[in-house]
Amino acid sequence: MKEKLLDLLRGRGHKITSQRRAIIDALLAGGHFVTAQQILDIVKQTHPDVSLDTVYRNLSLLMELGAVDEIRTPNRDGNLFEVLTTGHHSHLVCLTCGRAKCLPFCPIKSSDMEQAGVDGFTVTSHSLEFYGYCRECQTSGAGEGFSCCTK
Ligand SMILES: [Zn+2]
Ligand SMILES: [Zn+2]
Ligand SMILES: [Zn+2]
Repeated sequence: MKEKLLDLLRGRGHKITSQRRAIIDALLAGGHFVTAQQILDIVKQTHPDVSLDTVYRNLSLLMELGAVDEIRTPNRDGNLFEVLTTGHHSHLVCLTCGRAKCLPFCPIKSSDMEQAGVDGFTVTSHSLEFYGYCRECQTSGAGEGFSCCTK
């Protein structure tokens, strides 16, 4: 996967700096979902001068290339990034603990995409999250006993 991401960046004429390589390493090492802050914490160990802005810039670039997806959680800094290995899909996001779960499908049909293209707008992509409460948060009482928040 790492070589695939690096090839993708090279193919679009982006330089592979050691900082960029470290960010990709951290993205892949961080688990299925990682926050920008988690990536920053890992990269800082080898590149102490890296900033959160730089991490976000690199993530945006990978999103433009379709390699990474951002999952919006109730807390912006808690937004999760996922390396796309299985193609486009939707997510369930818990409003209490901010954890996400992949849905194996997306309910948006291509006819919905066409309908969304009003006023001559050409729709090329979309993202969709479902918000609610995960099983752990329901049983522990929403807002209380954040038992499922520890990663
Ligand atoms: Zn939860
Ligand atoms: Zn996913
Ligand atoms: Zn979709």
